[in-house]
Amino acid sequence: MDAKSDVQTLSHWIGGEWKAGGETFEVLNPIDDSLYCRAAKGTGDDMRNAVAAARSTFESYKETLPKERERWLLRVAEIMEQRKDDLIDCLIDEIGSPVGKANFEFDKGLTMLRAAAGMCRNVRGETIPSDAPGKFSMSIREPLGVVAIVTPFNVPLIKTTRLISNALAVGNTVVHLPSELAPHLTILMAEIFHDAGIPAGAYNVVTGMGHEIGDDLTGHKYVDFVSFTGSSVVGQHINEVCARNKTPLTLELGGKSPTVVLKDADLEKCMPLAARSIFMYGGQLCIGSSRFYVERPLYDEFVKRFSMIASKAGMGDLRDPNTVIAPIISERQRNRVKTHIEDAVKKGAKLAAGGEWEGNRCQPTILTDVAEEMTLCREETFGPVTSIYPIDSYEEGLEKANDTEYGLSSAIFTNDINKAMHFAKNIGAGMCHINGPTVHDEAHVPFGGNGESGVGREGTDADLEAMTELKWVTVQL
Ligand code: NAD
Repeated sequence: MDAKSDVQTLSHWIGGEWKAGGETFEVLNPIDDSLYCRAAKGTGDDMRNAVAAARSTFESYKETLPKERERWLLRVAEIMEQRKDDLIDCLIDEIGSPVGKANFEFDKGLTMLRAAAGMCRNVRGETIPSDAPGKFSMSIREPLGVVAIVTPFNVPLIKTTRLISNALAVGNTVVHLPSELAPHLTILMAEIFHDAGIPAGAYNVVTGMGHEIGDDLTGHKYVDFVSFTGSSVVGQHINEVCARNKTPLTLELGGKSPTVVLKDADLEKCMPLAARSIFMYGGQLCIGSSRFYVERPLYDEFVKRFSMIASKAGMGDLRDPNTVIAPIISERQRNRVKTHIEDAVKKGAKLAAGGEWEGNRCQPTILTDVAEEMTLCREETFGPVTSIYPIDSYEEGLEKANDTEYGLSSAIFTNDINKAMHFAKNIGAGMCHINGPTVHDEAHVPFGGNGESGVGREGTDADLEAMTELKWVTVQL
């Protein structure tokens, strides 16, 4: 604690010890920009120390037994439950999560950990028939070594539980660079991983500015795998850095996810799901649906109902369960959301709902008549802002949904199973939900996107494969 202001100052967690840095940086509560905490501003040396700790611990950690890793991960889930209030408070005050979103993240986090515990016994190779007489041939699956994990601000608990536990479950050690906007949540989880008995040095956290120290992590020659979640611009840079050392990676990046609504859709069921797709956590979700294509017979009714829901979306106290709309995380991001709306309106888009601000919160905003020359037509806004476009046929909906550089999530609402399955097979996105919202995730599914939305998938099966390598072994009998 900082004696003067009662504000906590966070340290790095390296090799099982708290390492206070020299310089610190401020983390602001986005609801009113008040000081939430300070955190050590990591340097290249801090990062190299963390990688060294993870590297030396790997030699013993890779020999740990499945039953040990399984017990530790299940214990992490138990301690999380005991510390639920701390985690929920942090999600509310550090990143402005409404309590409903905080609870959603907490529950998902628990399932991520328990699913990861199940991976420990599943690191398998196979026997392979051999053409050489008397040769016994097999593959064994081994952990890679040090896994670097870089996470964004918006779902820090889901990302920390999923990625750290999946890497540890299969025998890797980890260095984690959390978002500079959300270091405390990760530091709380570091305490919990430690209290659960994970060996010192297996999980290391360095807080700081990603653009200053990120390359010291992702470009380190002793880093064997990089898992990055964040914006497409930073993802592109990390791709280039990793290429220098041929470091394998997954990139989970931004999105401009479409929802197509056909004329036979059940609007009663569709509307609340459509709203959830874009307004949850104030639209700051990568899989949020920022484009709706609605078949003309339903278009006017859809716009009317969506605007009604938008105007009623809860913007009260973040601890009130009825609150949906979160503050936009930072000044930079608020400017982006404002500019996108202003640019669209200036160029002729119509505001069906919202467009105004209440403090750091943008009202749920629905735009119609959005055209190609408007920035938000193609770029990710990352706020509670969506566009609704009329379409004259299913074919037009599919074509427009595919007209994007991104390819993360997608959805279609219809009772026509043939069109629904045709859409699922032909949409250029990594995920497709029929009669469900674009916002959906589970621990064991292949989660991820194509094009500007990323490379590779995450989830228990995908991470097991990505974070391990097969070795071919033969025995001449
Ligand atoms: P961001 O790209 O600004 O930051 C993400 C992380 O990258 C942070 O930890 C930051 O410190 C770090 N970073 C910055 N420069 C770096 C560098 N040179 N090397 C290494 N790390 C560096 O993203 P954000 O604003 O925190 O998050 C929002 C973005 O994340 C949106 O685009 C959203 O769509 C995306 N996102 C994607 C997923 C997914 O699973 N596909 C999930 C959540 C968020």
